[in-house]
Amino acid sequence: MILLLFSITLVYVGLVMIHAKGVASKIELDTYQGVLRAEEISQKLGKKKGNLDAQKENLQAEALEIFMLYEITKEITKSFNESEAFEIFKRKLHEHVEFKECCFLGSLSREVKDLRKKEGYFVFTLQSKRKKIGYLAIEGVSEKDKEKVMILGHQFALALRRVHLYEEIEQIAITDSLTEVHTRRHVTERFQEELKRSKARNIRMSFLMIDVDFFKKFNDQYGHLTGDQILRETGALIKENIREIDIAGRYGGEEFCVILPDTGYQGAQYAAERIRKAVEDAVIKAYDASVKITVSIGTSTFPDDSKKMDELIDKADWALYRAKKKGRNKVCSFGI
Ligand code: GH3
Ligand code: MG
Ligand code: MG
Repeated sequence: MILLLFSITLVYVGLVMIHAKGVASKIELDTYQGVLRAEEISQKLGKKKGNLDAQKENLQAEALEIFMLYEITKEITKSFNESEAFEIFKRKLHEHVEFKECCFLGSLSREVKDLRKKEGYFVFTLQSKRKKIGYLAIEGVSEKDKEKVMILGHQFALALRRVHLYEEIEQIAITDSLTEVHTRRHVTERFQEELKRSKARNIRMSFLMIDVDFFKKFNDQYGHLTGDQILRETGALIKENIREIDIAGRYGGEEFCVILPDTGYQGAQYAAERIRKAVEDAVIKAYDASVKITVSIGTSTFPDDSKKMDELIDKADWALYRAKKKGRNKVCSFGI
C-alpha cells in the first residue's frame, strides 16, 4: 500500500516536474521572443532618432543659411552706393566662405574674359531680371563653397539692382523732363555747394544766365510742340558745349543757366561765347520745320561781382538784360 502511494506520489511529482519544465521553457521562449521584439523596437527607435537628428541638422543648417541671407540682405540694403554695397558684400562673404580675393566688374570687359580662363578663379555672373548687371571674380574659393557664393552673389545682385533703381530715381528727380538739363532746384543746391567750395579754396566761380531770343515768336509761328523741341535742342547744345564739371540747368520757361566752377570772368566769357556760337550755328529740326535760333547770355563771377548766390544770379540776369538791349545774340558780363 505504502509502495503504491509512494509510486503514485512519484508519478505525480514527475508529472508536475514535466509540466513545470514545459511552463519554464514556454516562459523562456516568451521571454526570448520579448527580448527579440524589444531589440527590434529599440533598433527601429534608434533609426528614427538617427533620421530625426539628421533632419534637425538639416533644419539647423537651413535656418543658419536663411539667417545669414537675412543678415546680408539687411546690411547690403543699407547702402545706396555701388562700391559701398560691394564692400559690405565682400565683408559678409569673408564671414561665411574662405577665399583669397574678390572683385566686382561692371561689364563684360577683357579682364572678365581673362579671369574666366585663369586657374583658381571662379567668375560668377550677376543677373537681375535675366539682365547681366556685372561679374564677381573670386580667387581661391573651394568647390563646396561655390553654391554659397552663388546664393550670396544673388543677394548682392538684388542690392545692385536696388542701388541702380535708386540712382535712376534720383537722376529723374533732379532732371527737367523736357530739356534733360538739371532742375532749377538742383542748380541752386549745387550753386550753394560750389560757392562754399570756392570760398574754402579761395578760387573763382562764374554763373551764366541764358535766354532764347524772341522765343515767343517761334511759339506763335510754329506752335508749342515745335517750341518744346527748340527748348530740348537748346538744352542739348548747352550740355554739349560745357565741361564735365559744369552744371547746366533750366532756370525758367526758356531760360537756362550754367554754373562754372573754378572759372573767372574771362573763362566765363569764353564758355558763354562758345554756347552762343554753337546755338547760332545749329539748325534745329522740329517736326516739319527747320529753325534757326539765337541766345543772349549774361555772366557774373564770384567773388568779383558778389559773394552771395542770390546777388550773383541777379547780376547775371542784369547782364543778360544788357545783352538783349544791345541787340540780342550777345554775351555780356556784369563787371564790364
Ligand atoms: P526775348 O528775346 O526778349 O527773350 O523774347 P522772348 O519772346 O523770348 O521772351 P518772352 O519772355 O516774352 O517769351 C518767353 C516765352 O516762352 C513765353 C512762354 O509762352 C514761352 N514758354 C515758356 N515755357 C515754355 C515751354 O515749356 N514750352 C514752350 N513751348 N514755350 C514756353
Ligand atoms: Mg525769358
Ligand atoms: Mg527769351
